[in-house]
Amino acid sequence: MTFSREEHVLIPESDLEGMSIDTLAVRAGQVRTGQLEHSDPIFPTSSFVYGSAAQAAARFGGEEPGNIYSRFTNPTVQAFEGRIAAMEGGERAVATASGMAAILSTCMALLKSGDHVVCSRGVFGTTNVLFQKYMARFGVETTFVSLTDMDEWAAAVRSETRMLFLETPSNPLCEVADLAALSELAKRSGALLVVDNCFCTPILQRPLDFGADIVIHSATKYLDGQGRCVGGVVVGPNALMDEVYGFLRSAGPTMSPFNAWVFLKGLETLPIRMRAHCENALELAKWLEQNPMVEEVFYSGLPAHPQHELAKSQQKGFGGVLSFRVSGGRTEAWAFIDATQMISITANLGDVKTTITHPATTTHGRLSDEDKAKAGITENLIRLSVGIEDVEDLKRDLSRGLEALGQ
Ligand SMILES: *Cc1c(COP(=O)(O)O)cnc(C)c1O
Repeated sequence: MTFSREEHVLIPESDLEGMSIDTLAVRAGQVRTGQLEHSDPIFPTSSFVYGSAAQAAARFGGEEPGNIYSRFTNPTVQAFEGRIAAMEGGERAVATASGMAAILSTCMALLKSGDHVVCSRGVFGTTNVLFQKYMARFGVETTFVSLTDMDEWAAAVRSETRMLFLETPSNPLCEVADLAALSELAKRSGALLVVDNCFCTPILQRPLDFGADIVIHSATKYLDGQGRCVGGVVVGPNALMDEVYGFLRSAGPTMSPFNAWVFLKGLETLPIRMRAHCENALELAKWLEQNPMVEEVFYSGLPAHPQHELAKSQQKGFGGVLSFRVSGGRTEAWAFIDATQMISITANLGDVKTTITHPATTTHGRLSDEDKAKAGITENLIRLSVGIEDVEDLKRDLSRGLEALGQ
């Protein structure tokens, strides 16, 4: 059996206009093969065949659209790209093999030697390494600034600045950046504003709506949500995404069709998962805040959080990640973590299962003591990525940690 191109069509974007993100999560980017399948099909093929030599020539020459080779395009990957682009409100998405491949591809496609980047200090550890060690080797210098200090951002910008890069809310202290103000600064400076939207996902925050140029995801986290696959994606306007796609096609860190299929399934439940993550996290943040053995809770959903109002104005929810300081130091923090029984001790986040980690010796372990101090990564800090289990069961497990502190 063969399929003609007509039998495998994407639902036209115009049909999706005005639909809620909850609907887009389930319907956008759908592929139809002519087999009347209801679930998204998967195309595990490295290459594609042509009806004739002339058609092959037209595909290679770019005169006829269509698939050639899965390093370039693949229908399952395109379905994922179409869906996440619609959800982020961007013109086009480019899927990558990992979140880091998304960040690397964006930098390689849009920066050149002599360019300068301003980046928030609290970004994902490997992003930090990418800028400090590897981009620097190719003549791209990066200045790190406080996520929330607009004066520091403005002062760091130079005539060669081409990119402002940030994550909001930050990991693990949940600081919130002012996206509208940063987008204004980027425009004034002739730089691109690139936002790693991994923690919020488009369900809680759409940076493009606030003037960001590009959104990046580690799909490994909430987009999958069940800890199965590694992947990433870049979303933005066609002109910029053409460049990112061009790099990806030449360099090769593309997403596999199987992973794209898993992420498509993940996106379908993303809206309801994010609501459950937010609800549980807020409840736990309030509960932890009341415990005398907990010195401080970091969660933008708490009214005491310094950017609570800002978070309310640009996010639809406060997310599933929170952190807190226990009384004591490393010994107490480790005792707390080890006393929990159900919660997974892992540095991963964005999973339906709640995870717990000690940032100072895991995710942020490679930072110097000075950088740890600057970033607020103290020895008594614990980070929770709150899952969707019953919140009372989570409290029961966390109580074991509190008891280990002598409470
Ligand atoms: C995990 C993560 C990344 C890197 O993504 P990978 O899929 O692990 O390559 C980038 N940014 C943030 C905020 C992350 O949490």
